Amino acid sequence: MNEVRVRFAPSPTGHLHIGTARTALLNWLYARRQQGVFIVRIEDTDRSRSTVIFEESILEDLAWMGLNWDEGPDIGGKYGPYRQSERFELYQQKADELIRLGQAYRCYCTPKELEERRKAMLAAGLMPKYEGTCRLLTEEQEAECMAQGRKPAIRFRVPDGRIVVHDITRGDIEFSSDVIGDFVILRSDGSPSYHLAVVVDDGEMRITHVIRGEDHITNTAKHIPLFMALGYPVPKFAHNAMILGPDGGKLSKRHGATSVSEYRANGYLPEAINNYLALLSWAPEDTREIFSLEELAWAFTIERISKSPAIFDINKLNWLSGQHIRLASLERITNICIPYLREAGLLPEGGLSKKDFARLMKIIEAVRGNLTVLSEIPEYAKIFLGEYEIEPEADKWLIKPHAPEVLDALLGLIYNRGELDIEGGKKIMGLIRQAFKPLGITGKDLFMPIRVALTGSIKGPELPHVLNILDRAEIMSRIDKAIKRAQYLQEIREE
Ligand code: GLU
Repeated sequence: MNEVRVRFAPSPTGHLHIGTARTALLNWLYARRQQGVFIVRIEDTDRSRSTVIFEESILEDLAWMGLNWDEGPDIGGKYGPYRQSERFELYQQKADELIRLGQAYRCYCTPKELEERRKAMLAAGLMPKYEGTCRLLTEEQEAECMAQGRKPAIRFRVPDGRIVVHDITRGDIEFSSDVIGDFVILRSDGSPSYHLAVVVDDGEMRITHVIRGEDHITNTAKHIPLFMALGYPVPKFAHNAMILGPDGGKLSKRHGATSVSEYRANGYLPEAINNYLALLSWAPEDTREIFSLEELAWAFTIERISKSPAIFDINKLNWLSGQHIRLASLERITNICIPYLREAGLLPEGGLSKKDFARLMKIIEAVRGNLTVLSEIPEYAKIFLGEYEIEPEADKWLIKPHAPEVLDALLGLIYNRGELDIEGGKKIMGLIRQAFKPLGITGKDLFMPIRVALTGSIKGPELPHVLNILDRAEIMSRIDKAIKRAQYLQEIREE
Protein backbone atom coordinates (compact mmCIF):
# COMPACT_ATOMS: atom_id res chain seq x y z
CA MET A 1 0.00 0.00 0.00
CA ASN A 2 1.12 3.54 -0.66
CA GLU A 3 2.31 5.59 2.23
CA VAL A 4 -0.51 7.57 3.88
CA ARG A 5 0.01 11.33 3.54
CA VAL A 6 -2.41 13.71 5.22
CA ARG A 7 -2.34 17.43 5.70
CA PHE A 8 -3.60 20.07 8.07
CA ALA A 9 -4.17 23.27 6.14
CA PRO A 10 -5.03 26.22 8.38
CA SER A 11 -5.60 29.74 7.11
CA PRO A 12 -3.58 32.09 9.32
CA THR A 13 -6.41 34.57 9.80
CA GLY A 14 -6.90 33.99 13.54
CA HIS A 15 -5.69 31.90 16.44
CA LEU A 16 -6.13 28.13 16.30
CA HIS A 17 -9.85 27.53 16.83
CA ILE A 18 -10.82 24.52 18.87
CA GLY A 19 -12.77 23.09 15.90
CA THR A 20 -9.78 23.53 13.60
CA ALA A 21 -7.57 21.94 16.24
CA ARG A 22 -9.89 18.96 16.17
CA THR A 23 -9.35 18.59 12.41
CA ALA A 24 -5.60 18.77 13.00
CA LEU A 25 -5.83 16.11 15.68
CA LEU A 26 -7.84 13.71 13.51
CA ASN A 27 -5.34 14.05 10.68
CA TRP A 28 -2.43 13.58 13.05
CA LEU A 29 -3.99 10.51 14.67
CA TYR A 30 -4.64 8.97 11.30
CA ALA A 31 -1.11 9.63 10.11
CA ARG A 32 0.43 8.18 13.26
CA ARG A 33 -1.90 5.17 13.33
CA GLN A 34 -1.00 4.40 9.71
CA GLN A 35 2.67 5.26 10.18
CA GLY A 36 2.13 7.88 7.53
CA VAL A 37 3.18 11.47 7.04
CA PHE A 38 1.50 14.51 8.65
CA ILE A 39 1.97 17.74 6.73
CA VAL A 40 1.20 21.30 7.76
CA ARG A 41 0.39 23.66 4.92
CA ILE A 42 -0.38 27.31 5.46
CA GLU A 43 -3.26 28.51 3.30
CA ASP A 44 -2.50 32.21 3.18
CA THR A 45 -3.84 33.10 -0.26
CA ASP A 46 -6.05 35.74 1.32
CA ARG A 47 -3.25 38.25 1.63
CA SER A 48 -5.36 40.89 3.34
CA ARG A 49 -6.42 38.68 6.26
CA SER A 50 -3.42 36.37 6.72
CA THR A 51 -0.64 37.36 9.12
CA VAL A 52 2.70 35.93 10.15
CA ILE A 53 1.69 36.39 13.80
CA PHE A 54 -1.30 34.08 13.38
CA GLU A 55 0.82 31.55 11.49
CA GLU A 56 3.31 31.48 14.35
CA SER A 57 0.56 31.25 16.92
CA ILE A 58 -1.09 28.31 15.13
CA LEU A 59 2.20 26.43 14.85
CA GLU A 60 2.95 27.10 18.49
CA ASP A 61 -0.43 25.75 19.57
CA LEU A 62 -0.06 22.67 17.38
CA ALA A 63 3.35 21.99 18.89
CA TRP A 64 1.88 22.51 22.37
CA MET A 65 -0.78 19.91 21.58
CA GLY A 66 2.02 17.51 20.66
CA LEU A 67 0.88 17.24 17.05
CA ASN A 68 4.34 17.18 15.51
CA TRP A 69 4.58 17.48 11.74
CA ASP A 70 6.88 15.79 9.25
CA GLU A 71 6.75 18.47 6.56
CA GLY A 72 5.77 22.08 7.02
CA PRO A 73 6.56 25.75 6.46
CA ASP A 74 9.23 25.89 9.16
CA ILE A 75 10.98 22.58 8.47
CA GLY A 76 10.41 22.22 4.73
CA GLY A 77 10.11 18.85 3.01
CA LYS A 78 10.15 17.22 -0.40
CA TYR A 79 7.14 19.07 -1.79
CA GLY A 80 7.63 22.60 -0.42
CA PRO A 81 7.26 25.45 -0.08
CA TYR A 82 4.43 24.80 2.38
CA ARG A 83 2.99 28.30 2.31
CA GLN A 84 0.53 28.95 -0.50
CA SER A 85 1.65 32.58 -0.88
CA GLU A 86 5.00 31.19 -2.08
CA ARG A 87 3.39 29.01 -4.74
CA PHE A 88 1.44 31.51 -6.86
CA GLU A 89 3.49 30.83 -9.97
CA LEU A 90 2.60 27.16 -9.84
CA TYR A 91 -1.11 27.91 -9.60
CA GLN A 92 -0.87 30.24 -12.60
CA GLN A 93 0.88 27.54 -14.61
CA LYS A 94 -1.78 25.01 -13.70
CA ALA A 95 -4.59 27.40 -14.64
CA ASP A 96 -2.91 28.03 -18.02
CA GLU A 97 -2.51 24.31 -18.51
CA LEU A 98 -6.24 23.82 -17.96
CA ILE A 99 -6.98 26.52 -20.55
CA ARG A 100 -4.74 24.75 -23.05
CA LEU A 101 -6.56 21.50 -22.36
CA GLY A 102 -9.92 23.21 -22.88
CA GLN A 103 -10.88 22.50 -19.26
CA ALA A 104 -10.88 26.14 -18.23
CA TYR A 105 -11.64 29.44 -19.92
CA ARG A 106 -11.22 33.15 -19.44
CA CYS A 107 -14.22 34.94 -18.00
CA TYR A 108 -14.60 38.67 -18.59
CA CYS A 109 -17.77 39.23 -16.58
CA THR A 110 -17.33 42.08 -14.12
CA PRO A 111 -18.21 41.68 -10.43
CA LYS A 112 -21.08 44.11 -11.01
CA GLU A 113 -22.55 42.03 -13.85
CA LEU A 114 -22.18 38.84 -11.84
CA GLU A 115 -23.91 40.39 -8.88
CA GLU A 116 -26.82 41.63 -11.00
CA ARG A 117 -27.32 38.19 -12.51
CA ARG A 118 -27.10 36.56 -9.11
CA LYS A 119 -29.82 38.84 -7.80
CA ALA A 120 -32.00 38.17 -10.83
CA MET A 121 -31.67 34.41 -10.33
CA LEU A 122 -32.56 34.69 -6.67
CA ALA A 123 -35.55 36.87 -7.56
CA ALA A 124 -36.69 34.20 -10.03
CA GLY A 125 -36.45 31.57 -7.29
CA LEU A 126 -33.39 29.90 -8.80
CA MET A 127 -30.27 28.79 -7.02
CA PRO A 128 -27.61 31.28 -8.09
CA LYS A 129 -24.71 29.92 -10.11
CA TYR A 130 -22.53 31.10 -12.93
CA GLU A 131 -24.50 30.64 -16.12
CA GLY A 132 -21.53 30.05 -18.40
CA THR A 133 -21.70 33.42 -20.18
CA CYS A 134 -18.05 33.30 -21.26
CA ARG A 135 -17.87 29.56 -21.88
CA LEU A 136 -17.82 29.83 -25.65
CA LEU A 137 -16.24 33.18 -26.45
CA THR A 138 -14.49 33.44 -29.80
CA GLU A 139 -11.04 34.99 -30.12
CA GLU A 140 -12.64 38.15 -31.53
CA GLN A 141 -15.04 38.43 -28.63
CA GLU A 142 -12.19 38.01 -26.20
CA ALA A 143 -10.21 40.69 -27.99
CA GLU A 144 -13.18 43.00 -27.74
CA CYS A 145 -13.51 42.40 -24.01
CA MET A 146 -9.82 43.17 -23.60
CA ALA A 147 -10.22 46.32 -25.62
CA GLN A 148 -12.95 47.39 -23.20
CA GLY A 149 -10.35 47.11 -20.46
CA ARG A 150 -11.89 44.03 -18.85
CA LYS A 151 -9.44 41.83 -16.99
CA PRO A 152 -10.22 38.12 -17.17
CA ALA A 153 -10.55 35.64 -14.36
CA ILE A 154 -10.15 31.96 -15.19
CA ARG A 155 -13.02 29.55 -14.62
CA PHE A 156 -12.99 25.78 -14.48
CA ARG A 157 -15.31 24.16 -17.00
CA VAL A 158 -17.22 21.77 -14.73
CA PRO A 159 -17.95 18.64 -16.78
CA ASP A 160 -21.62 17.72 -17.18
CA GLY A 161 -22.99 14.83 -15.20
CA ARG A 162 -22.96 13.56 -11.66
CA ILE A 163 -20.18 14.00 -9.18
CA VAL A 164 -19.97 11.44 -6.41
CA VAL A 165 -18.10 12.17 -3.22
CA HIS A 166 -17.08 8.86 -1.65
CA ASP A 167 -16.88 9.73 2.00
CA ILE A 168 -15.16 7.15 4.17
CA THR A 169 -17.62 7.58 7.02
CA ARG A 170 -20.76 8.87 5.29
CA GLY A 171 -20.79 6.76 2.18
CA ASP A 172 -21.51 8.22 -1.26
CA ILE A 173 -22.87 11.74 -1.58
CA GLU A 174 -24.07 12.68 -5.07
CA PHE A 175 -24.08 16.10 -6.67
CA SER A 176 -25.30 17.17 -10.07
CA SER A 177 -22.84 19.38 -11.96
CA ASP A 178 -25.84 21.60 -12.80
CA VAL A 179 -25.93 22.98 -9.31
CA ILE A 180 -22.23 23.69 -9.18
CA GLY A 181 -21.58 26.00 -12.08
CA ASP A 182 -18.18 26.86 -13.51
CA PHE A 183 -16.15 28.31 -10.66
CA VAL A 184 -13.22 30.70 -10.60
CA ILE A 185 -9.81 29.13 -10.22
CA LEU A 186 -7.68 32.21 -10.87
CA ARG A 187 -8.89 35.72 -10.06
CA SER A 188 -8.35 38.63 -12.41
CA ASP A 189 -5.48 39.83 -10.20
CA GLY A 190 -3.66 36.53 -10.80
CA SER A 191 -4.30 35.12 -7.34
CA PRO A 192 -5.62 31.55 -7.08
CA SER A 193 -8.99 30.71 -5.59
CA TYR A 194 -9.06 28.39 -2.60
CA HIS A 195 -10.26 25.56 -4.87
CA LEU A 196 -7.33 25.71 -7.27
CA ALA A 197 -4.69 26.18 -4.59
CA VAL A 198 -5.96 23.32 -2.47
CA VAL A 199 -6.29 20.86 -5.35
CA VAL A 200 -2.90 21.70 -6.86
CA ASP A 201 -1.27 21.40 -3.46
CA ASP A 202 -3.03 18.19 -2.47
CA GLY A 203 -2.03 16.79 -5.86
CA GLU A 204 1.58 18.00 -5.81
CA MET A 205 2.06 17.04 -2.17
CA ARG A 206 0.77 13.51 -2.89
CA ILE A 207 -1.99 13.76 -0.29
CA THR A 208 -3.75 10.41 0.00
CA HIS A 209 -6.50 11.27 2.51
CA VAL A 210 -8.28 14.56 3.13
CA ILE A 211 -9.89 14.76 6.56
CA ARG A 212 -11.71 18.04 7.08
CA GLY A 213 -14.95 19.54 8.36
CA GLU A 214 -18.32 18.76 6.82
CA ASP A 215 -18.65 22.41 5.82
CA HIS A 216 -16.27 21.45 2.99
CA ILE A 217 -18.45 18.72 1.43
CA THR A 218 -19.68 20.88 -1.45
CA ASN A 219 -16.12 22.08 -1.99
CA THR A 220 -15.09 18.45 -2.31
CA ALA A 221 -17.65 18.06 -5.11
CA LYS A 222 -15.89 20.90 -6.92
CA HIS A 223 -12.44 19.53 -6.21
CA ILE A 224 -12.94 16.01 -7.52
CA PRO A 225 -13.33 16.98 -11.23
CA LEU A 226 -10.50 19.46 -10.80
CA PHE A 227 -8.17 16.75 -9.51
CA MET A 228 -9.10 14.65 -12.52
CA ALA A 229 -8.66 17.49 -15.01
CA LEU A 230 -5.19 18.17 -13.64
CA GLY A 231 -4.29 14.50 -13.85
CA TYR A 232 -3.84 13.98 -10.11
CA PRO A 233 -5.11 10.88 -8.31
CA VAL A 234 -8.21 11.79 -6.30
CA PRO A 235 -7.52 11.44 -2.57
CA LYS A 236 -9.93 9.69 -0.22
CA PHE A 237 -12.17 11.97 1.81
CA ALA A 238 -13.60 11.93 5.33
CA HIS A 239 -15.68 14.88 6.53
CA ASN A 240 -16.06 15.24 10.25
CA ALA A 241 -19.15 16.75 11.86
CA MET A 242 -19.17 20.25 13.30
CA ILE A 243 -18.78 21.19 16.94
CA LEU A 244 -21.85 23.04 18.22
CA GLY A 245 -22.41 25.15 21.31
CA PRO A 246 -24.83 23.92 24.00
CA ASP A 247 -27.62 25.93 22.33
CA GLY A 248 -27.16 24.04 19.06
CA GLY A 249 -25.53 27.00 17.25
CA LYS A 250 -22.05 26.97 15.74
CA LEU A 251 -19.45 27.07 18.52
CA SER A 252 -18.47 30.71 18.98
CA LYS A 253 -17.18 33.27 21.45
CA ARG A 254 -20.53 33.61 23.14
CA HIS A 255 -20.18 30.01 24.33
CA GLY A 256 -16.84 30.72 26.04
CA ALA A 257 -13.24 30.15 25.03
CA THR A 258 -12.88 29.02 21.42
CA SER A 259 -9.15 29.12 20.78
CA VAL A 260 -6.57 26.62 21.89
CA SER A 261 -4.41 29.45 23.26
CA GLU A 262 -7.19 30.50 25.62
CA TYR A 263 -7.50 26.97 27.00
CA ARG A 264 -3.76 26.82 27.38
CA ALA A 265 -3.71 30.14 29.26
CA ASN A 266 -6.56 28.91 31.46
CA GLY A 267 -4.43 26.00 32.65
CA TYR A 268 -5.72 23.02 30.68
CA LEU A 269 -3.14 20.38 29.82
CA PRO A 270 -2.78 19.53 26.13
CA GLU A 271 -3.57 15.87 26.79
CA ALA A 272 -6.95 16.90 28.24
CA ILE A 273 -7.75 18.97 25.14
CA ASN A 274 -6.65 16.15 22.83
CA ASN A 275 -8.56 13.55 24.81
CA TYR A 276 -11.69 15.68 24.80
CA LEU A 277 -11.53 16.58 21.11
CA ALA A 278 -10.92 12.97 20.17
CA LEU A 279 -13.93 11.73 22.15
CA LEU A 280 -16.02 14.48 20.63
CA SER A 281 -15.20 13.27 17.14
CA TRP A 282 -14.86 9.59 17.33
CA ALA A 283 -16.17 6.67 19.34
CA PRO A 284 -13.64 4.27 20.86
CA GLU A 285 -14.55 0.62 20.65
CA ASP A 286 -14.99 0.26 24.40
CA THR A 287 -16.21 2.55 27.17
CA ARG A 288 -12.81 3.79 28.13
CA GLU A 289 -12.55 7.58 28.42
CA ILE A 290 -9.07 8.56 29.52
CA PHE A 291 -6.47 8.40 26.76
CA SER A 292 -3.00 9.80 26.31
CA LEU A 293 -2.12 11.06 22.84
CA GLU A 294 -0.17 7.88 22.09
CA GLU A 295 -3.05 5.71 23.25
CA LEU A 296 -5.41 7.69 21.04
CA ALA A 297 -3.16 7.09 18.07
CA TRP A 298 -3.30 3.37 18.74
CA ALA A 299 -7.05 3.25 19.19
CA PHE A 300 -8.06 5.62 16.40
CA THR A 301 -9.87 4.41 13.30
CA ILE A 302 -11.00 6.74 10.56
CA GLU A 303 -14.18 4.73 9.95
CA ARG A 304 -15.44 5.58 13.42
CA ILE A 305 -15.27 9.36 12.95
CA SER A 306 -18.71 10.52 13.98
CA LYS A 307 -21.21 11.79 11.44
CA SER A 308 -23.48 13.69 13.76
CA PRO A 309 -22.67 17.12 15.15
CA ALA A 310 -21.12 17.14 18.60
CA ILE A 311 -22.19 19.48 21.37
CA PHE A 312 -19.28 21.08 23.17
CA ASP A 313 -19.61 20.12 26.83
CA ILE A 314 -17.34 22.15 29.06
CA ASN A 315 -18.17 19.98 32.09
CA LYS A 316 -16.86 16.91 30.34
CA LEU A 317 -13.71 18.76 29.29
CA ASN A 318 -13.24 19.96 32.87
CA TRP A 319 -13.63 16.47 34.21
CA LEU A 320 -11.01 15.15 31.77
CA SER A 321 -8.80 18.07 32.67
CA GLY A 322 -8.89 17.14 36.35
CA GLN A 323 -8.16 13.51 35.51
CA HIS A 324 -5.11 14.39 33.42
CA ILE A 325 -3.81 16.77 36.10
CA ARG A 326 -3.82 13.81 38.50
CA LEU A 327 -1.99 11.60 35.95
CA ALA A 328 0.66 14.06 34.77
CA SER A 329 4.23 14.07 36.04
CA LEU A 330 4.47 16.14 39.20
CA GLU A 331 7.56 17.98 38.07
CA ARG A 332 5.93 18.98 34.80
CA ILE A 333 2.75 20.39 36.32
CA THR A 334 4.77 22.13 39.02
CA ASN A 335 6.62 24.01 36.29
CA ILE A 336 3.36 24.93 34.59
CA CYS A 337 1.93 26.21 37.88
CA ILE A 338 4.81 28.59 38.63
CA PRO A 339 3.64 31.50 36.40
CA TYR A 340 0.14 31.41 37.94
CA LEU A 341 1.64 31.56 41.42
CA ARG A 342 3.93 34.42 40.45
CA GLU A 343 1.07 36.35 39.00
CA ALA A 344 -0.89 35.90 42.21
CA GLY A 345 2.09 37.23 44.17
CA LEU A 346 2.63 33.90 45.93
CA LEU A 347 6.09 33.31 44.44
CA PRO A 348 8.80 35.88 43.80
CA GLU A 349 9.95 36.65 40.26
CA GLY A 350 13.16 34.89 39.21
CA GLY A 351 14.32 31.30 39.59
CA LEU A 352 13.45 29.01 42.47
CA SER A 353 16.11 27.30 44.53
CA LYS A 354 16.16 23.49 44.43
CA LYS A 355 14.77 23.42 47.95
CA ASP A 356 11.90 25.78 47.15
CA PHE A 357 11.07 23.82 44.00
CA ALA A 358 11.00 20.57 45.98
CA ARG A 359 8.66 22.18 48.51
CA LEU A 360 6.45 23.48 45.71
CA MET A 361 6.24 19.95 44.30
CA LYS A 362 5.00 18.74 47.66
CA ILE A 363 2.34 21.45 47.66
CA ILE A 364 1.18 20.59 44.17
CA GLU A 365 1.13 16.91 45.04
CA ALA A 366 -1.06 17.63 48.04
CA VAL A 367 -3.62 19.78 46.21
CA ARG A 368 -3.69 18.54 42.65
CA GLY A 369 -6.64 16.28 43.42
CA ASN A 370 -8.76 19.41 43.88
CA LEU A 371 -7.82 21.13 40.64
CA THR A 372 -9.92 21.30 37.51
CA VAL A 373 -7.43 23.50 35.71
CA LEU A 374 -3.92 24.49 36.76
CA SER A 375 -4.76 28.20 36.87
CA GLU A 376 -6.72 27.45 40.07
CA ILE A 377 -3.47 26.67 41.86
CA PRO A 378 -3.13 30.00 43.74
CA GLU A 379 -6.44 29.45 45.50
CA TYR A 380 -5.26 26.09 46.84
CA ALA A 381 -1.58 26.89 47.38
CA LYS A 382 -2.10 30.15 49.22
CA ILE A 383 -2.47 28.32 52.55
CA PHE A 384 1.17 27.34 52.18
CA LEU A 385 2.65 30.23 50.26
CA GLY A 386 0.60 33.20 51.40
CA GLU A 387 0.38 35.06 54.69
CA TYR A 388 -1.25 32.98 57.40
CA GLU A 389 -4.69 34.27 58.19
CA ILE A 390 -7.77 32.61 59.59
CA GLU A 391 -10.74 33.02 57.29
CA PRO A 392 -13.96 34.25 58.91
CA GLU A 393 -15.94 31.03 58.29
CA ALA A 394 -13.26 29.09 60.14
CA ASP A 395 -13.96 30.79 63.49
CA LYS A 396 -16.91 28.51 64.13
CA TRP A 397 -14.50 25.63 64.69
CA LEU A 398 -12.17 27.56 66.97
CA ILE A 399 -15.06 28.68 69.12
CA LYS A 400 -15.87 25.07 70.07
CA PRO A 401 -15.13 24.64 73.81
CA HIS A 402 -12.67 21.79 73.27
CA ALA A 403 -10.67 23.52 70.52
CA PRO A 404 -7.90 25.06 72.72
CA GLU A 405 -7.37 21.72 74.43
CA VAL A 406 -7.03 19.83 71.13
CA LEU A 407 -4.62 22.41 69.78
CA ASP A 408 -2.57 22.37 72.98
CA ALA A 409 -2.24 18.64 72.69
CA LEU A 410 -1.17 18.93 69.06
CA LEU A 411 1.40 21.53 69.96
CA GLY A 412 2.79 19.22 72.63
CA LEU A 413 3.12 16.31 70.21
CA ILE A 414 4.86 18.40 67.61
CA TYR A 415 7.13 20.05 70.13
CA ASN A 416 8.57 16.65 70.94
CA ARG A 417 9.49 15.84 67.33
CA GLY A 418 11.59 17.13 64.51
CA GLU A 419 10.40 17.92 60.99
CA LEU A 420 7.55 15.68 59.89
CA ASP A 421 7.23 13.66 56.73
CA ILE A 422 3.84 12.32 55.63
CA GLU A 423 4.25 9.17 57.72
CA GLY A 424 5.20 11.27 60.74
CA GLY A 425 2.13 13.43 60.12
CA LYS A 426 -0.08 10.33 60.04
CA LYS A 427 1.40 9.16 63.32
CA ILE A 428 0.66 12.48 64.98
CA MET A 429 -2.92 12.40 63.76
CA GLY A 430 -3.27 8.84 65.08
CA LEU A 431 -2.00 9.86 68.51
CA ILE A 432 -4.39 12.81 68.68
CA ARG A 433 -7.28 10.56 67.72
CA GLN A 434 -6.39 8.11 70.48
CA ALA A 435 -6.05 10.84 73.05
CA PHE A 436 -9.45 12.42 72.40
CA LYS A 437 -11.53 9.35 71.69
CA PRO A 438 -12.23 8.66 75.38
CA LEU A 439 -13.54 12.23 75.68
CA GLY A 440 -15.95 11.66 72.81
CA ILE A 441 -14.19 14.20 70.59
CA THR A 442 -13.92 12.56 67.20
CA GLY A 443 -14.37 13.18 63.46
CA LYS A 444 -14.87 16.76 62.36
CA ASP A 445 -14.98 18.03 65.93
CA LEU A 446 -11.42 16.90 66.24
CA PHE A 447 -9.98 17.55 62.80
CA MET A 448 -11.59 20.82 61.87
CA PRO A 449 -9.97 22.89 64.64
CA ILE A 450 -6.65 21.34 63.61
CA ARG A 451 -7.23 22.08 59.95
CA VAL A 452 -8.19 25.64 60.75
CA ALA A 453 -5.17 26.10 62.98
CA LEU A 454 -2.73 24.75 60.40
CA THR A 455 -4.16 26.33 57.26
CA GLY A 456 -6.54 29.10 58.37
CA SER A 457 -9.10 27.53 56.08
CA ILE A 458 -11.94 25.04 56.37
CA LYS A 459 -10.90 23.12 53.30
CA GLY A 460 -7.64 21.89 51.90
CA PRO A 461 -5.46 18.83 51.49
CA GLU A 462 -5.16 15.97 53.94
CA LEU A 463 -3.60 16.93 57.24
CA PRO A 464 -0.51 14.65 57.08
CA HIS A 465 0.37 16.44 53.82
CA VAL A 466 -0.07 19.79 55.49
CA LEU A 467 2.17 18.73 58.38
CA ASN A 468 4.75 17.55 55.88
CA ILE A 469 4.76 20.74 53.82
CA LEU A 470 4.90 23.34 56.56
CA ASP A 471 8.12 23.54 58.51
CA ARG A 472 8.08 22.87 62.21
CA ALA A 473 8.55 26.46 63.35
CA GLU A 474 5.76 27.62 61.10
CA ILE A 475 3.45 24.87 62.38
CA MET A 476 4.10 25.85 65.99
CA SER A 477 3.59 29.52 65.29
CA ARG A 478 0.30 28.85 63.47
CA ILE A 479 -1.04 26.63 66.24
CA ASP A 480 -0.05 29.22 68.78
CA LYS A 481 -1.89 31.95 66.89
CA ALA A 482 -4.96 29.74 66.54
CA ILE A 483 -5.00 28.95 70.26
CA LYS A 484 -4.90 32.67 71.00
CA ARG A 485 -7.69 33.29 68.54
CA ALA A 486 -9.74 30.44 70.09
CA GLN A 487 -9.25 31.87 73.56
CA TYR A 488 -10.18 35.35 72.41
CA LEU A 489 -13.35 34.09 70.68
CA GLN A 490 -14.40 32.22 73.79
CA GLU A 491 -13.74 35.20 76.02
CA ILE A 492 -15.83 37.55 73.95
CA ARG A 493 -18.58 35.00 73.80
CA GLU A 494 -18.63 34.70 77.60
CA GLU A 495 -18.77 38.45 78.06
N1 GLU B 1 -7.70 26.49 4.68
C1 GLU B 1 -8.94 25.78 4.81
C2 GLU B 1 -9.63 26.17 6.09
O1 GLU B 1 -9.00 26.72 6.97
C3 GLU B 1 -8.68 24.30 4.84
C4 GLU B 1 -9.46 23.62 3.85
C5 GLU B 1 -9.04 22.21 3.59
O2 GLU B 1 -8.71 21.50 4.54
O3 GLU B 1 -9.04 21.84 2.45
O4 GLU B 1 -10.81 25.96 6.20
